[in-house]
Amino acid sequence: MSKRITVTDTILRDAHQSLLATRLRTEDMLPICDKLDQVGYWSLEVWGGATFDACVRFLKEDPWERLRTLRKALPNTRLQMLLRGQNLLGYRHYSDDVVRAFVAKAAENGIDVFRIFDAMNDVRNLKVAIEAVKAAGKHAQGTIAYTTSPVHTVETFVQQAKDMAAMGIDSIAIKDMAGLLTPFATGDLVKALKAELDLPVFIHSHDTAGLAAMCQLKAIENGADHIDTAISSMAWGTSHPGTESMVAALKGTQFDTGLDLELLQEVGMYFHAVRKKYHQFESDFTGVDTRVQVNQVPGGMMSNLANQLKEQGALDRIQDVFAEIPRVREDLGFPPLVTPTSQIVGTQAVFNVLAGERYKTITNEVKLYLQGRYGQAPGAVNEKLRRQAIGGEEVIDVRPADLLKPEMDRLRGEVGALAKSEEDVLTFAMFPDIGRKFLEEREAGTLKPEQLLPAPGEGAPAASSEGVPTEFIIDVHGESYRVDITGVGVKGDGKRHFYLSLDGMPEEVVFEPLNAFVGDGGSKRKQASEPGHVTTSMPGNVVDVLVKVGDTVKAGQAVLVSEAMKMESEIQAAIAGTVKAVNVAKGDRVNPGEILIEIEA
Ligand code: MN
Repeated sequence: MSKRITVTDTILRDAHQSLLATRLRTEDMLPICDKLDQVGYWSLEVWGGATFDACVRFLKEDPWERLRTLRKALPNTRLQMLLRGQNLLGYRHYSDDVVRAFVAKAAENGIDVFRIFDAMNDVRNLKVAIEAVKAAGKHAQGTIAYTTSPVHTVETFVQQAKDMAAMGIDSIAIKDMAGLLTPFATGDLVKALKAELDLPVFIHSHDTAGLAAMCQLKAIENGADHIDTAISSMAWGTSHPGTESMVAALKGTQFDTGLDLELLQEVGMYFHAVRKKYHQFESDFTGVDTRVQVNQVPGGMMSNLANQLKEQGALDRIQDVFAEIPRVREDLGFPPLVTPTSQIVGTQAVFNVLAGERYKTITNEVKLYLQGRYGQAPGAVNEKLRRQAIGGEEVIDVRPADLLKPEMDRLRGEVGALAKSEEDVLTFAMFPDIGRKFLEEREAGTLKPEQLLPAPGEGAPAASSEGVPTEFIIDVHGESYRVDITGVGVKGDGKRHFYLSLDGMPEEVVFEPLNAFVGDGGSKRKQASEPGHVTTSMPGNVVDVLVKVGDTVKAGQAVLVSEAMKMESEIQAAIAGTVKAVNVAKGDRVNPGEILIEIEA
């Protein structure tokens, strides 16, 4: 019995997200669309949270316009997107009316297939998105975010698939975002899914640890219907198995894909040339990285953590953080590590290590998590930690979005005349800061995409007169920025002023000594020495000051909110008393040991 295996090529979304920081521009997609459209792919993946973000933030392209353009250029091929369930393309839970509006507009502008996942695998967070996709008459794919833990078994994943099937999905995807899948585990999972459900099974696995092609073959042997690949010149490593390789592997067998290898070769050569244009975004760690199979920490998360620790001057603690991550994950009931849970777990692990005491500081995100605000944890959470984190506050057991009021009208009001369409309102809804900035720049006619560096050999790197390099690519949380130092100010007031351009935008950066008593430019705050001195264990910024001079506070009461490493945390008073001094204001940079607030017993 022969069975044609169908193929999704990720070249226009996940392949360049995984290899080139999501920077592929529409202008480099269009020339090859005619050929891509002739290949006979089941679908082309074209859209997702990161592509939308990069369009608005760096490329200054309207992501909706990209979608419409690709729709026209690819009339014969399904277009597919990745959707974060109730989080859509953002990082928070949206109300149901936003979810419905977004899905309806995505469908109207050209998306045929919606792959929908939730970071917690809480299917309640998929429900409204699935309903909306079905209401639009499109293909709803329910997703298992694959992870390993004592509470994740073949049975729990099959149960999740059954729950999604009851919601009306058209197919099931196994999404292995980190490269955790191993071939025989894949075979077992696929076999069980096919035995229990009458739905097509899709395999999406990253080749980070060098195992993805073997996983796909075992999946196919056990009944999987579909594989995600990337054209060979943008395949492997943190991307997916090469399209031509998989087509060749299955050719002439009962699983033949039917795709034309010669045509694929032309597509492959095209992207081989295009990739060079984006060389500045290539990771310096290419090839196979097996670390995820050892410590279960996804590659993207490892580089984020390394950057966070560098910022804190504590890169030497990275092994301690790797050891702490599984313990925090266990305390939180073993969530899969994918946006946003990877950041929540990773940052708390960093706090636990650097503060020298576990959960001395608990981030607001961990508190929200322990309140059930992200959905239900896969396993039991540490109840002692939950009590410590949220005290007597309520734990919700409903679907988080059940507590949200409709918000489309509010969003329309907030963005106002900047929005020329409902699509613009949704752009603003997904990314309130960079979305608004994009719409403002469009209005003013000042949209300017980031510059690309010349390809190697096309221009020598600039150097100052002393031969010191003045052009840098810096990586922050997985995003690359181009920095050009354009000038250095004179020394004075203990600070050093640097003039530079960041992705083509002029900036002035002032460096000051971090320690309050080194140099004149410090914050001049004294060092804490008494229990009534409220201080912080991490360098960060003050997000909010919750008390004023004269207030009476209880021991354990939150008096400040600080932000470090993109996570907010509350700082509490150690003793009860009266606030005598507040030495910080919203927006201030603060350092460990400084007296931020003084309380007198
Ligand atoms: Mn992926």
